[in-house]
Amino acid sequence: MKKVFNVSNRLPVTIGKTIRKSAGGLVTAMEGIQNDYRLQWVGWPGNVIGSSRQNDIRTHLHDDYGYIPVFLSHHQIECYYNGFSNSTLWPLFHYMPNFTRFNEEWYAHYIKVNKAFADIIIENAVQNDLIWIHDYHLMLLPGMLRDRNSNLKIGYFLHTPFPSYEVFRCHPNREALLHGLLGADLIGFHTFGYLRHFRSTLLRILGLESEIDSILSENHRTHFGVYPIGIDAQKFQKELNSRTHRKYLNKYRDIFQNRKVVLSVERLDYTKGIPRKLDAIELFLQRHEHPEDIVFIFVMVPSRGEVEEYQQLLNTVELRISQINGKYSTITNIPLHFMHQSVSFSELCALYALADVCMVTPLVDGMNLVAKEYIACQKNNFGVLILSEFAGAAQELFSAIIVNPYNIDQVSNAIEQAIEMTDDEKEQRNQPMAKRILRYNAKHWAKTFIDDLSDCSSSSESDITRSAALETIKPFIHAQKIALFLDYDGTLCEIRKKPEDAAPNRAIKALFELMVQCHSVDFYLISGRSKPDMQNWFFEYPFTLICEHGFFYRLPSDTKWQFFNSDADLSWKEQVSEIFELYCEMTPGSFIETKTASIVWHYRQADPEFGSWKANQLMVELYEMLSNLPVEIHHGKKIVEVCSTQISKGRAVEYFLQQHAYDRVLCAGDDLTDESMFRLKRPEIISLKIGSGNTLAQYKIPTPQQFREYLQKFISAKINRDKEI
Ligand code: UDP
Repeated sequence: MKKVFNVSNRLPVTIGKTIRKSAGGLVTAMEGIQNDYRLQWVGWPGNVIGSSRQNDIRTHLHDDYGYIPVFLSHHQIECYYNGFSNSTLWPLFHYMPNFTRFNEEWYAHYIKVNKAFADIIIENAVQNDLIWIHDYHLMLLPGMLRDRNSNLKIGYFLHTPFPSYEVFRCHPNREALLHGLLGADLIGFHTFGYLRHFRSTLLRILGLESEIDSILSENHRTHFGVYPIGIDAQKFQKELNSRTHRKYLNKYRDIFQNRKVVLSVERLDYTKGIPRKLDAIELFLQRHEHPEDIVFIFVMVPSRGEVEEYQQLLNTVELRISQINGKYSTITNIPLHFMHQSVSFSELCALYALADVCMVTPLVDGMNLVAKEYIACQKNNFGVLILSEFAGAAQELFSAIIVNPYNIDQVSNAIEQAIEMTDDEKEQRNQPMAKRILRYNAKHWAKTFIDDLSDCSSSSESDITRSAALETIKPFIHAQKIALFLDYDGTLCEIRKKPEDAAPNRAIKALFELMVQCHSVDFYLISGRSKPDMQNWFFEYPFTLICEHGFFYRLPSDTKWQFFNSDADLSWKEQVSEIFELYCEMTPGSFIETKTASIVWHYRQADPEFGSWKANQLMVELYEMLSNLPVEIHHGKKIVEVCSTQISKGRAVEYFLQQHAYDRVLCAGDDLTDESMFRLKRPEIISLKIGSGNTLAQYKIPTPQQFREYLQKFISAKINRDKEI
C-alpha cells in the first residue's frame, strides 16, 4: 500500500493536559483514502509545547494517531502564522491589498518553518512516497522537497483563491513563492478560474508558458487540476435522522414559530462581506412590509483574534448590528440574533434545517462549505440558498440565487425573492444541488486528487528523454570522424530576456573547456547571432563558427569570416525594416535587430500576451507583403525573423558535410530555424531538439541544462575512449 504524508499547517488535534483528536473537513476527506493508502499526518500540533514535553508528545502523537508534529515557538507562530500567512498571503489572495502587510522578518520565518516541515518529511519519507501539502502556509515546501529528493511525488492543494496576476504581483517574494509551488508534481485548485490566474501569473512573472493542464519548468513537469472540495454529506444526513436533531429542531421551531428565519454562518473574517450583508439586510427591513415577521440569525465563529483587522471588524459588526436592532426591534421581536461563538454540530444542523433562507455572501471565498452544508440539510424543508458569485461554490451550486455581494440592492431583493419563493421552485432549485453535494463529497475529492497524484508519471520527462538520448551517444563513442553542429541560444544556453545577457556563463565555459580537450570531434557553433556576438563570445575556442543562420562562417584556423553565398538577394531588407519599425512603435518593450541577411523583431520584454498578439498580426502582414520575395519568415521564441531563403542552417551543415566525410553527425537546436538541419536525411545524422513542441528532430531533451549534461557525458566518454586507443 502506498504511503501518503498529509502535510498541513495544523494537525487535527487539541493538546491540553491530554491529547484530543479534533474533527474537521480534511480529516473526513482523508478517511476516504484510508482503504487504498497508508496515511501519515505532518503538522503543527496547535500549541506551543515546551521542549521538556516535546518528546513525550511526539511519541504519543505517533503511536496513538500516526501523526508527526512540527513544533513551533511563540515567535514563529507570530511571524509565520499570524504574520506572513494570515496578514500577508490571506488578504492578498482574497483581493484585499489594503489589509495586506509585508514584513521581511515574517518572510524569513516563513522560510524557516517551511524548511522545518521539509526536514521532517525528508527524514521520514522514502522513494515514491506521496506527499500531499495543503494550503498557503506551505507554498515553499514543494520546491524545498523537490530540491532535496526528486523521487518523491509531491501534490499541493490551495484551499484559497489564487488571485489575479495584477494582485499577486504586489507580493515582494512573488518569484520565490511560484518557484516553491512548481516543485510539486500536481497542483490542485477549487475552480478553473484560480487555475487560469495561476497560469497567467507564471507567464507574466516567471515568463513561463504553460499548457492548459501542465507546465515544464527547469527539467520538471508540474500538472494542474481542478478539484472542488466537497463535504461529508452522509454525516449531515445521518444527523438529520437522529433524535438529538429532532429535539433541537422542535425547540427552535417553538421559539421562532410563525417567523421566517434567515441564517448566516461564517467565521468573523473580512472576506465574508459581513458589513455589506448587514447593509443589504437593513435595506430589506426598510422596504419589507412586516419586518417583525422575519428573524436573522448570525453564527459568527471567532477567528484570528490576535490580528488587528479582525478586532476592528468585530467592533464594526457589533456596532452595525446594535444600530439595526435599535431601529427595527419591537416589543415582540429582535430582528438580528448575533452569536459571536461556535455552535455544536447538532445545533448547527438544526439551524440549517430550520432556516428558510441561508445567506452566503462573501466578497471572495476559495470554496465556502457552509453553502454546501445548508443544501445537504434541506431534506425535509426546501430552504433557499442566496450565494455570492465570488464564492468558489457558485461554480457548482448555480441553481442557488446568485448575487453580487457588492450590490446591496440586489442582495436585499434576493432576500425578498427567497422569502416569497414557492415550494415547487425551491425543490426544483435544490434537487440538482443536493444530488451533486452527495455525489462529489469530501472523500471523492481526496480520492480523486491523490489518485491523480499517484498517476503522475513517476519518472520525470527529462529522465525518459535523457535515457533515450544517452542511447544515441553510444555509436558516436566508437566513430572515427565526428561533427557536432550546436545551436547556441535555447540549446547550449538558456533563453534570456535580453539577448546580450546570454554570454557564456561558468557552466557553458566549463563545457567549452572540455570540448577543447576532445580532439577527435569537430565542433560547429551554428547560430542566428551576428558576427560581433559570436566573435566576442567564442573567438578563443577552436570551433567553427557559423552565424546569421548560415550566412557567414569562420574556420577555427582562420580569423576571417567567409560567405556561404555572397550573391544572396537582400533587396527586401528595407521594406521589412519599415514594417518592423511600425510594430516597435506599437509594442512597448520590443526592438529590432538587423543582421546582414536577416532582420529580427524581438518582443521578449513586451507584455507577453500583447506581444504574441502583435507578432501574429505582423506575421499576417509579412506573408502578404513578402510572398514573392526570396525570404523565409519565422515566428520563433519571442521573435519574428525575416531571412533570405538562399541561406539556412541546413544548407550550412550540408556544405560542411560535403567538405568532410564524417561517420557521425549530431545536429542540435531548439527553434524553427534549426528545423532546416533536422530536415537533412542522412544515415550518419542524429538530430536533437531542446525543449518541447513539434519538430522533425529524432530526439528531444527538455532543457539546455539537460543538454549540457548530455554533451558533458558524451565528450568525457569520448576523451577517455581516445586515450585508450
Ligand atoms: N462551523 C463550525 N462551527 C460553527 C459554525 C460553523 O465549525 O459554529 C464550520 C462550518 O460547518 C463549515 C466551516 O465552519 O464547515 C466553515 O467553512 P467555510 O468553507 O464556509 O469557510 P472558512 O471558514 O473555511 O473560510
